[in-house]
Amino acid sequence: MSNSLPFNSTLIQGLFTPLPPEHEPDTNPGFWVVLQGNSLVVPTESQHLLLSGVLLPIVSIPETEPFKIGLWQGKPLRIVRITMDTSLPPGYEALPFMGPDTRLDNTLATIAGRAAQILHWERRSRFCSHCGGKLVRIPAGWGKRCSSCGDEHFPHIHPCIIVLVRRGAELLLIRNAAWNVGRFSLVAGFLDFGESLEECVQREVREEAGIDVTNIRYLGSQCWPFPSQQMIGFLADYAGGEVRPDGVEVVEAHWFSEDALPLSPGGKRSISRWIIDTFGKSMGMTERTQ
Ligand SMILES: [Zn+2]
Repeated sequence: MSNSLPFNSTLIQGLFTPLPPEHEPDTNPGFWVVLQGNSLVVPTESQHLLLSGVLLPIVSIPETEPFKIGLWQGKPLRIVRITMDTSLPPGYEALPFMGPDTRLDNTLATIAGRAAQILHWERRSRFCSHCGGKLVRIPAGWGKRCSSCGDEHFPHIHPCIIVLVRRGAELLLIRNAAWNVGRFSLVAGFLDFGESLEECVQREVREEAGIDVTNIRYLGSQCWPFPSQQMIGFLADYAGGEVRPDGVEVVEAHWFSEDALPLSPGGKRSISRWIIDTFGKSMGMTERTQ
């Protein structure tokens, strides 16, 4: 099940209870998610990586105002982002929650990702995009209302398809212009106006690799907090055409034997890795998609 992928809520079920956002008085000790870029600040030595206490444990000028987003193991969980140029005091380090570091398990990566997504929205929802007025929170949720024109704004979560295209025992992989030579992944792209998800799959594969696909099946989905996507995974069969990258966004597109795949840039926490690992083999695939 894709529910158990990192960054999805199932990973922190039982540990984290989300609550409406709140700036509560600093009297109740709890836990802190302190972010610096896409990294979680943790103690270098301790086994317990989530920082605790009443006050922000890192002396700095926060980039965002801290606030409580829920309970972690029954205690308040506060989140804050510090600036990239804040130098961490001795005994602390910042671990990328997308990266391969095994100290940061999937649970911590998930709560850090949740915090990053929330703080991204808070940072970008200060003013009304309609009239420029100040936005204020609609109680009990993440929505905001314009204090000037009354427009309501809700978190921007961007739907994005990602698709494994098969031709017998071969998989279609592409290299984005931004990736290093030798690294490949699945075709992916943002949903456009007027599209069903299946139409988006067909368009993205045609645009990025020049081929047509058919028999599109939904596989699963993943919250992807970089900064705020919803990745929706599909499997599709080759239907025709010659593989030809667009040369701009995608610089290479090839069929790879399922037994000789190149490096994937998404890393072990990504849905692309999960899709390839789970659905990349033609033998027994039908059973696994059930
Ligand atoms: Zn407004």
